[in-house]
Amino acid sequence: MQILLHLPKFMNWLNEHQKANAHGLIDWPCDPNHLDMQPPNPANAIVPATAIGCVSCLMKDLVSDYWGQVDLAADGTPNPFDAGQQPMMPIHRLAKRWYAPHVAATASALNRQLAIDRRDALQYADDFLKMVLGHMEETIPRTNTNRIDQYNALFMLESQNTSRCKCHARNTQPATPTIGIENVWPTPRQPGDTIDHAIWDACNYEVTMACAHCGQDRTHTIERRIKAAPQYLRVQFDIHERDDEGNEDQDIDGNKMKNMGPQHQDPVPIDSIIDITQHQMNTTTPLRYKLIGVVYHHGEYVNDGHYLAAVTCYGNKKYLIDDDDISEEARRDNDQDPLTVNPMGWYRNDQNYLYAVTLWYERLSNPRPLNL
Ligand SMILES: [Zn+2]
Ligand SMILES: [Zn+2]
Repeated sequence: MQILLHLPKFMNWLNEHQKANAHGLIDWPCDPNHLDMQPPNPANAIVPATAIGCVSCLMKDLVSDYWGQVDLAADGTPNPFDAGQQPMMPIHRLAKRWYAPHVAATASALNRQLAIDRRDALQYADDFLKMVLGHMEETIPRTNTNRIDQYNALFMLESQNTSRCKCHARNTQPATPTIGIENVWPTPRQPGDTIDHAIWDACNYEVTMACAHCGQDRTHTIERRIKAAPQYLRVQFDIHERDDEGNEDQDIDGNKMKNMGPQHQDPVPIDSIIDITQHQMNTTTPLRYKLIGVVYHHGEYVNDGHYLAAVTCYGNKKYLIDDDDISEEARRDNDQDPLTVNPMGWYRNDQNYLYAVTLWYERLSNPRPLNL
């Protein structure tokens, strides 16, 4: 969540919500018809009546509280972030509503308690952030294509998928736009393996499906090519441990984290600059990104343990944010960017490892020519 509070272009854009232009018109007002603005469904017994509000306004409040009255362009250290204080609480209440399973008033005490436990469980930080962005995007009037385009330019990756059957039939279709690239998994400790390469793997894969041309169930190769790339690129790791059948490995605590177990000593490498020019439909325009944020997890399960974030501030300073504890991260002795350290010792204690689960990159607007 703190990641969003360190994306200046996003904050400037969000600031336009509920704001009148020179003619006194608000082109992106709150949406009174949005579900988040309606009273919670009283039929669901475990949603608090106070779980209501405009998520764009709540985020705006959060930004101004976090940064105080400091001009966003000024050099400044972020204010401590207290999850228990206003204005984070209304967002947490709304989130309980997003995550609350439906429970009828007649449900047994046990089922009700199980649902409450699920509602109040630690949310996978990356999923929570996606929820916030998704609900925020929904508050933009559908007729306001300008604002929707701006949102897409900030976060959305648009691409096309080309599938090829063994019979040589070929089919190209737009893929569903996503907030960055998901389910990337760089091979731990493989010399030369990089985030670029892992993204390539996530964009080039095989599936078995029915072919419209030869009519058979056959292996198809899929090639995903980027049509429009965002300002801020989310790279989400495939964090779930899977069993032999490829199903997510679960037990009573939830989904097991992939970085535990055998991989514990083999964390994925993180690159400070990535070049995904070759993943585009048009490969003549350089497409490079710089690492600006990392979301870390500590613990064995996705919904258990603790999430932290590392962010980049003005002047290229790096901070580790652990709830209300903010500390500056110095460059390592060998001049290594602290954001590329994975896993990271927590409180300088090498027994308490933090593993990266999501990376955030910012687009380099004037990349250097590639073949120097
Ligand atoms: Zn609003
Ligand atoms: Zn075919």
